Amino acid sequence: MDSPPRDPELLDKVINLAKRRGFVFPSAEIYGGFRSTYDYGPLGVNMLRNVREAWWRSMVQRRDDVVGLDAAILGPPAVWAASGHLDTFTDPLVDCRQCKERWRADKIDGVCPNCGSTQFTEPRAFNLMFKTQAGPVEGEGATAYLRPETAQGMFTNFLNVLTATRRRPPFGIAQIGKSFRNEITPQNFVFRTREFEQMEMEFFVAPGDAETWYRYWIEERFNWFVDLGIPAESLRRHEHAAADLSHYSRGTTDIEFEFPWGFDELEGVANRGDYDLIQHSEASGVRLEYYDTASGERYVPYVIEPAVGSTRAMMAFLLAAYHEDVVEGESRTVLRLDPRLAPYQVAVLPLSKKPELDGLAREVASRLRERFVVDVDVTQSIGRRYRRQDEIGTPWCVTVDFESLQDRAVTVRDRDTTAQVRVPIDEVVAELAGRVAS
Ligand code: ATP
Repeated sequence: MDSPPRDPELLDKVINLAKRRGFVFPSAEIYGGFRSTYDYGPLGVNMLRNVREAWWRSMVQRRDDVVGLDAAILGPPAVWAASGHLDTFTDPLVDCRQCKERWRADKIDGVCPNCGSTQFTEPRAFNLMFKTQAGPVEGEGATAYLRPETAQGMFTNFLNVLTATRRRPPFGIAQIGKSFRNEITPQNFVFRTREFEQMEMEFFVAPGDAETWYRYWIEERFNWFVDLGIPAESLRRHEHAAADLSHYSRGTTDIEFEFPWGFDELEGVANRGDYDLIQHSEASGVRLEYYDTASGERYVPYVIEPAVGSTRAMMAFLLAAYHEDVVEGESRTVLRLDPRLAPYQVAVLPLSKKPELDGLAREVASRLRERFVVDVDVTQSIGRRYRRQDEIGTPWCVTVDFESLQDRAVTVRDRDTTAQVRVPIDEVVAELAGRVAS
């Protein structure tokens, strides 16, 4: 039933579907577009909310050792000086001497992807942060930066959270929000964009426990993707060699997904040691440490950080879900999205547009809406409507027909098997709720 694993057109097909059906639009398109920015359409926002929600549920709601935070996007230079971003958050930039295109030196293997030349300028360090100005007066005191990661908000609020929630390590602070990086070569749809959304968690532990928690979070995060429908064989763990580690890291493992161009980073899990808390303690003069008044125990926790882009994760879920198969002699495109991620969980389809069915279809839809995100589609043949719902990943279609007026039951069709069962209207919400994994 599966399509060949490496369809060379997969990326284009998903990008086209995303635009045509309202998942992702190129930004400012009527003005010719704005490179590397995207807008999330009606189905895209639904799905992105579901990605965030699934992450928050597993990282915060279901745990008693992680709390949430929503920190500011704009920050003063002091934060980014202490974190190391002002000095080291750079990529090596080179210009092709032949066609003048700019590239990230570490991503092109010495060959210009545009013209094939191997002649480049010497690499220069290019800082990826967006600098702006806060307030109406220009000058040093007004400089602000858009955060290039959400992590620093968790470090600068470490003491606030510790005091407010009376936590002790091991405990984590989780955040979802936009980050901004002036990427030299944004590419591959929403894989690498200048404005993107991250889901990050900083988990503070006693230094001696750091290695164990680091391994724990790599497995947790790997399993999260598998649970939500990415086949384990499309994922792998890539542990960075010591020489390749970032300035703050004592160990980094990327969870990589097999994107159409090959395995590439989906999520990074890092053991940041005590780097960040010490840097901010020294720079701010505020001691960021854990102190137990009863035992007198005092230490600077180590930090384990799982960090993933929600937009990049959404792209991986779309790619993994995309299938083409044949049902009843007709080929179809189907997104086999987990019901927890699908933009709509249920579509209500009255068999005909006749007014008799209208009231009952509305009733069924409004019952389902109490629990699910529901689409109602009344146009064209039922077969066409099934195909349209398959293509956007709606797991269940509920058909209201003339018999429904008599027996107060509806037909529920499953997206993946196309199997149909008759279910009483009074039971349809419970029936479908029972089919969603928690
Ligand atoms: P790279 O080396 O590819 O530039 P990184 O290793 O610096 O990325 P991290 O700082 O570890 O990336 O970011 C954590 C996660 O945030 C990444 O795994 C990815 O999912 C997401 N992410 C980072 N940069 C971008 C971007 N420009 N666009 C979309 N998602 C991003």
